[in-house]
Amino acid sequence: MSEIGLKENKNIGSEAETAEKAEDSKKDDDTVIEFSNVSKIYPGKVEALVDISFNIAIGEFISLVGPSGAGKSTLIRLLTGEEPPSKGKITVAGRDINKLKKKELPFYRRKVGIIFQDFKLLPKKTVFENVAFALEVSDAPNSEILDRVPKIIELVGLTSRTKAFTEELSGGEKQRVSIARALVHNPKLLIADEPTGNLDPVSTWEIIELLFKINKQGTIVLLATHDKEVVDSLERRVVTIKDGRLVSDQKKGKYIL
Ligand code: ADP
Repeated sequence: MSEIGLKENKNIGSEAETAEKAEDSKKDDDTVIEFSNVSKIYPGKVEALVDISFNIAIGEFISLVGPSGAGKSTLIRLLTGEEPPSKGKITVAGRDINKLKKKELPFYRRKVGIIFQDFKLLPKKTVFENVAFALEVSDAPNSEILDRVPKIIELVGLTSRTKAFTEELSGGEKQRVSIARALVHNPKLLIADEPTGNLDPVSTWEIIELLFKINKQGTIVLLATHDKEVVDSLERRVVTIKDGRLVSDQKKGKYIL
């Protein structure tokens, strides 16, 4: 079965492929994700996002900042394909993600890992089981689970806690488990939605360092955060939204709100 990836998996054999390829060839070769004039209007005329355009290239580590209600979560939901934009389009590896067929969506979603402030782990299950679960639901064979899960747990530095129940872990350890789970399908994009919101400063930096390590291994990281200190010290691209509008996009940006 075909798999929707980012960038290298363009040959997905749909009837839209030829047109999409022609469109893609016009773009900067490094552009993997493109928001083109994207707006999201909720019932009651709530303008959650207004005419947002920006690109994300291979290898980028981007902070997405903005005050509460700015539209960060909405932007993330549009990027994961959970909701469609009201206007404009989002293309990933040259494909309009809202034109993906129903059966293609799960494959796209596997290539987009996501972690949250509240971890969303299964508390009565072990570290191993939490990570394995993400593979089990995609019908991965046992042999793959036994091979892959320990490697991912090692990558996030939790080998010694493999058999611990996640409810026994510290906040920082829990976030490592959720990162491991998000990485299990080897995503090309990792979205971190306020990942350090519940963490102490030491754990915060450990998680940011882990996100950097993952980025260095080739995964795009989109970090939505309120944490000024983190954003200012990253010296990476910062995209700022306010009242649903993109108000700043800086290469080595600062938290300016
Ligand atoms: P942020 O993540 O930056 O805090 P959100 O994306 O959650 O911002 O919200 C942006 C705006 O859209 C807010 O005004 C919010 O109330 C509104 N909004 C978000 N989701 C919905 C929804 N499902 N229905 C109606 N309004 C929504």
